Amino acid sequence: MSKPLYDRDRAAIGNLQKLRFFPLAVAGGRGVRLVEEDGRELIDLSGAWGAASLGYGHPAIAAAVSAAVANPAGASILSASNAPAVALAERLLAHFPGKGTHKVWLGHSGSDANEAAYRAVVKATGRTGVIAFVGAYHGCTVGSMAFSGHSVQADAAKADGLILLPYPDSYRPYRDDPTGNSILALLEERLAAVPAGSIAAAFVEPIQSDGGLIVPPDGFLQRFAAICRGHGILVVCDEVKVGLARSGRLHCFEHEGFVPDILVLGKGLGGGLPLSAVIAPAEILDCASSFAMQTLHGNPVSSAAGLAVLETLDAEGLAEAAERKGKLLRDGLEKLAERHSLIGNIRGRGLACGVELVRDRRSREPARAETSKLIYRAYELGLVLYYVGMNGNVLELTPPLTITEDDIRKALQLLDRAFAEFHTIPDTVFEQFIGW
Ligand SMILES: *Cc1c(COP(=O)(O)O)cnc(C)c1O
Repeated sequence: MSKPLYDRDRAAIGNLQKLRFFPLAVAGGRGVRLVEEDGRELIDLSGAWGAASLGYGHPAIAAAVSAAVANPAGASILSASNAPAVALAERLLAHFPGKGTHKVWLGHSGSDANEAAYRAVVKATGRTGVIAFVGAYHGCTVGSMAFSGHSVQADAAKADGLILLPYPDSYRPYRDDPTGNSILALLEERLAAVPAGSIAAAFVEPIQSDGGLIVPPDGFLQRFAAICRGHGILVVCDEVKVGLARSGRLHCFEHEGFVPDILVLGKGLGGGLPLSAVIAPAEILDCASSFAMQTLHGNPVSSAAGLAVLETLDAEGLAEAAERKGKLLRDGLEKLAERHSLIGNIRGRGLACGVELVRDRRSREPARAETSKLIYRAYELGLVLYYVGMNGNVLELTPPLTITEDDIRKALQLLDRAFAEFHTIPDTVFEQFIGW
């Protein structure tokens, strides 16, 4: 395989920001397909980790971004209002069901949004403690890493007073309790051990994505939120990956029968452009000025892309479609599981799907090396998908919401072959592609 672009990338781009699984080198994109420089097309089942919510080159984004670039309303929200940023904030507020007055903070990434939310709740409440979950990925800035629980960031400095709870995983339950209630009991214990009124916020992913695409048991988040509120702790939903129609509802928390105090959005919000948002009570986001800002925050081009994404989710009915397509995908995966014993568990909501791979269905021993080989073989066959999870053994499927049912069927056929053929991949391939 001759890969001139990949070789240039190796020479020119540092490893700090690389998380590579195979030598994918992209020259263009069309719909759900990425196109390599030799013209080979691959179905992108990752959707660039969910950022490509409308796929690649969607006409609504192309039109909105072209118009915003050609006649830019400045470049920032810091020292001037701009029309696309305000319209985006208004639209986000109109879709948020929380009671009371809310406002919006606009950023570039899930990381800066989570960090801004954390700093703002600490500033506004005067409390410093924070609750999060083992396996949680809230970002890669110093502030967002400080309350993340993912093993990839085990060396990062953690926030003082951080309480990390096990995430409720019914496939690998904490204390053999698939309801998650023993985690809530642990939460009560931990709260009883700290001074009253010391914890500002609890960050929770309504599906824990990088920790293994784990769907919490029914009612868990509602009970979790009730306990937090009993202690005056703000509940922050990090929906950076699974929000905005991916789960089959506009907001993933809608599956859970509660409304968070603060909602964090990113990835798919920009449809491939850098954009994130925090929606929070006005008193939190008004608690200081010139406090959490970067020069290009509220950029009108990114904001125009975000508006186009929100309009297209509505216009194309993509939340309902995600529900339907996700079922098709999971039904197809269940069929594959009849033939491939490596598949231990299939889960998800809408077009956020996880497939946990195990060496043995009874012991549930994680199939880490097999997972790496499987996605490598899938890449050779024309599919892009990555793995997540603290054991590196969960396939994550977060394709563009615009994927067709026909392409889902094609992708399932390729996956079927990859499961049958991954043994052909030599171990040596992973010296370069250790993933995470
Ligand atoms: C990706 C992700 C982030 C970080 O977003 P970046 O855009 O990479 O900074 C935060 N939270 C969740 C749940 C994510 O999936």
